[in-house]
Amino acid sequence: MDSINITENDAFDPDKPIKIADRIWWVGHYLNDDPFQCHIYLIENKKNSVLIDPGSKLTFKYALRKIEQIIPFNYIRYFVCHHQDPDITGSLPLINQLVTRDDAVIVSHWRAIALLKHYGIDIPFLCVEKNNWHLNIKDRLLKFIFTPYLHFPGAYCTFDVESGILFSSDLFGGFTDNWTLIAQDESYFESIRPFHEHYMPSREILYNALVKLERYPINLVAPQHGSIIPKHLIKFMFNRLKDLDCGLYLMTQTNTDIIRLSNLNRLLQNFIKTVIIHREFGEVANALSMHANEILPVQNLLFYAMRKDGKIIQFDEESMYRGIISDIPEECEDIIGMNQNQWNAHYSNDYLKIISDSSNENHEYTEQSHKVIIPLYTSENSIIHALAIFNLTMNVEIDRELNSILLQLSVPLSIAIEREIILRSLEMERQRFYEQAIRDPLTGLYTRVYMKEAVRRLFSIHDREPNAQIFIVIFDIDHFKSVNDTYGHNAGDTALKTVAETILKETREADIQVRLGGEEFAVFIVSSDSKLPHIIAERIREKVEKLKLDPPMKDLTLTISGGIAAREQQEELQNAIQRADKELYKAKNTGRNRICSTC
Ligand code: GH3
Ligand code: MG
Ligand code: MG
Repeated sequence: MDSINITENDAFDPDKPIKIADRIWWVGHYLNDDPFQCHIYLIENKKNSVLIDPGSKLTFKYALRKIEQIIPFNYIRYFVCHHQDPDITGSLPLINQLVTRDDAVIVSHWRAIALLKHYGIDIPFLCVEKNNWHLNIKDRLLKFIFTPYLHFPGAYCTFDVESGILFSSDLFGGFTDNWTLIAQDESYFESIRPFHEHYMPSREILYNALVKLERYPINLVAPQHGSIIPKHLIKFMFNRLKDLDCGLYLMTQTNTDIIRLSNLNRLLQNFIKTVIIHREFGEVANALSMHANEILPVQNLLFYAMRKDGKIIQFDEESMYRGIISDIPEECEDIIGMNQNQWNAHYSNDYLKIISDSSNENHEYTEQSHKVIIPLYTSENSIIHALAIFNLTMNVEIDRELNSILLQLSVPLSIAIEREIILRSLEMERQRFYEQAIRDPLTGLYTRVYMKEAVRRLFSIHDREPNAQIFIVIFDIDHFKSVNDTYGHNAGDTALKTVAETILKETREADIQVRLGGEEFAVFIVSSDSKLPHIIAERIREKVEKLKLDPPMKDLTLTISGGIAAREQQEELQNAIQRADKELYKAKNTGRNRICSTC
């Protein structure tokens, strides 16, 4: 049989069995106010008929009425019990009274049989595993598929080869207030989700079963709870279930609101995904801020993190979580740097809640008076290196489940913030290297390497605009070798720095000041007035001569010589420098402490 058509739910008559495939019937009973809706199925096979999950004491009399509209009850030879829960097996003592034939059996896994025998019934058991995981009933083959721990250690499902129906027991079960016998669309997954998240122990265990089941050519999934899944939705449900996180009961001790738990869990999953997908901390923080609103009345979210150099970086919404150096709030000062034991000794929870006492604040309402602080630990040695602070619009109770979520959030957040701090440090390092390459570390002037880059724009302007003349002034300290020789290299360095400072002070920001190497400097000056470079160079020369140096160079009179050349249009940098150099040598050769010029 390729596909199965099932009549619409409108035709649903609760007192009639519903045919879901050729010779296969739903004989369950709709219970008011029961979000679980337990189902019973009948495989009509003459005197070898099969009843799948016979049901509870509550539903059995209705099931019996429906069965007898199809076959005499005594035609049922096999009572398949996928596990031992009372909604499946509560009816066995009643069945025990009704069955008159000798060859009837209860089909189950040995783990369930070990419990079912306590009903003290006479019908013998047939172990699925002893029967090689199948049942051959004349013209029909049922295959049993072991799905351990879903939700019972000995749980299994039944696949009817002829119809392609998977009687899936608790798997694919769902609960909802708006029950329909047939799942209408993909939204049925929202009924499946909380059911599986809580009753199934783990994603791995569920995945293992789904992979096994997927190998069968399933036309219809008939679960024991929730809705029957038609063929076109089966693949979708399989795929979504494979991704599902299960075992949420780990999170709770007291809360029975499993829908809320599911939502909390989904929030956590979404957030973890965000951390994985986004490299930018700002995006992670924005996503958390948004998700957190579902669980806390968040006014805003900010972080403090300590850098390796001990500086505190603040990440907040206002600065788009870019990170700015800041002070840490007083109440958090002692927390950064604590280890986990120290935290536990100080605080009773995994978070710190601060509620402002309004009487202390002249009865003024301060917007950010309530906050929840979550410590973030380094992955390396579990030291608190950062804090996430949720400023709240009002005080809220943080229950066990919320605490669990906050605790779980702290791990991906720690990673995200650690990653951000590393990236930022690298960026700063890079910036430092870059600065080093363009600035001479001793004097702070541009390096010779960078000079080319820096003058390119000036030269291109000059090439188009002859009135914007460029002058190159080169300075060289006179007899600098003897300064070093007399006062030592360190003193020489100080002298170099002082001369560089003088050059910087006496020129404009738009000029380009370069340390060409050793005790030689160049300044590029743009001016339409050809006298200006002379004036500037003279002023520098004079200022240097008048410098009062600190001891040991107290009595030293430092002088410099200079050469000036006006760059010609299209002239290469090296050529212009050489011409200025020539003038410098002229100055050196004519007595030093003077400026010579081509113009
Ligand atoms: P002149 O008047 O002809 O320019 O004589 P000079 O001694 O200044 O010229 P010379 O080029 O012979 O000597 C330059 C000296 O500058 C040699 C070198 O030791 C010193 N020097 C170069 N770079 C540095 C530096 O970074 N720090 C110090 N302290 N000295 C430097
Ligand atoms: Mg010199
Ligand atoms: Mg020199």
